[in-house]
Amino acid sequence: MLDKIIIANRGEIALRILRACRELNIKTVAVYSIADRYLKHVLLSDETICIGPSESERSYLNIPAIITAAEITGASGIHPGYGFLSENADFAEQVERSGFIFIGPCSETIRIMGNKISAITAMKKSGIVSVPGWYYEFDKCSNNNFSHKNLHEVCYPVIVKSAHGGGGRGMRVVKKVSDLPYAMQIVRSESKAMFNNDEIYVERYLENPRHIEIQVISDGKGNVIYLTERDCSIQRRHQKLIEETPAININPDIKKRIGESCVRACYDIGYRGVGTFEFLYENDNFFFIEMNTRIQVEHTITEMITGIDLVKAQLRIASGCTLNIKQNMVKSTGHSIECRINAEDSWNCLPSSGRITRFHAPGGFGVRWESHIYSGYEVPSCYDSMIGKLICFGETRDIAIARMKNALSELIIDGINTNIELQKKILTDALFQKGDGINVNYLQSRFNI
Ligand code: ADP
Repeated sequence: MLDKIIIANRGEIALRILRACRELNIKTVAVYSIADRYLKHVLLSDETICIGPSESERSYLNIPAIITAAEITGASGIHPGYGFLSENADFAEQVERSGFIFIGPCSETIRIMGNKISAITAMKKSGIVSVPGWYYEFDKCSNNNFSHKNLHEVCYPVIVKSAHGGGGRGMRVVKKVSDLPYAMQIVRSESKAMFNNDEIYVERYLENPRHIEIQVISDGKGNVIYLTERDCSIQRRHQKLIEETPAININPDIKKRIGESCVRACYDIGYRGVGTFEFLYENDNFFFIEMNTRIQVEHTITEMITGIDLVKAQLRIASGCTLNIKQNMVKSTGHSIECRINAEDSWNCLPSSGRITRFHAPGGFGVRWESHIYSGYEVPSCYDSMIGKLICFGETRDIAIARMKNALSELIIDGINTNIELQKKILTDALFQKGDGINVNYLQSRFNI
């Protein structure tokens, strides 16, 4: 088993990793930016090293500083969490080359799956269908030499996407052929600015799909399982806001088929660790959009219904342990929902920062609160706005919703703006409660946000 690891992240996921390490008797080193001196996991970890100023580029994205921290403290592994360097193949490669264990898949896998075009190509080889569209053609064509004939070959609307996009950024919907060259130019330059890569592609824009994803665990030694699917269709500007599992109104045979395809794909790409295959789902069809080669924000809901601790699974696999859960041992019961609590105004989405003057976390049977915040904690303005996750479990979806409504009404975060009111509004919405007809456009069409 790993004996000491670097937690190369911040916020709730850093605390989540720290807790898992403690249960496994793994020592922890928190590497943090100046702005994060008083983060909960920094206060609780065995060792701490300040790796730079508040700007992420010079701290949480500072590869030499993080690897040096591992050298100084004698850590054997590095857990990247999500975001930051978690899907950066160069980072994973440097970690490997420096003789440390990257807690995730090997850098080669991250490189393939980190580029949506090569991921789609790899999945195609495994028989997994992606959204119809063009991939390499767009990579090779400049805006000027792109022929009009090609523009007409795709059904409109289409969506232009950055091959390296993430967090709902680097996408643009195009309704008619004449708008395509300009949209391509915009996405290309946005992509260069945000992801330092201007590779783009185009696929059909599905009008009202659901976002359904499959969690997998693979030990890299031939043992692979998939877990119950998650429905992440409640999104704001292509970013998830509420996730739930299982996904309702999908034929169990179709679910089984897609789960088994994901397992096959893991064998084909030699996957190691936990990972998620993301799909758009429409009319009984699953269309692959991307794979996340890391732990995801919404992993918690899967844990609630399967009883499998996904962060501990990551740590065990990185330690060389064999996965001791077979597919037929995976049982899920009940229903789980997660509400992301963001430091942002419920209606205009503007981020908020500052001191939390009063804080009270909800509790009770089937309620889980994952967060680093506390009364007196200063929410910095320089990082992601998510400050907590409220997760509820219920024997049925109705019970999980009732529990979530209660839990949200107990949650108090004063001193900054949060999206708690929006979450309450969604949980009490008849359409959400019914569950039928929810798709990725739900928030936009129902609340006009
Ligand atoms: P990111 O990596 O930024 O999260 P994804 O490719 O995972 O981007 O897509 C995020 C969301 O964007 C999807 O859940 C969906 O709401 C929307 N989206 C992406 N591709 C399409 C598409 N082809 N048609 C319709 N919506 C899409």
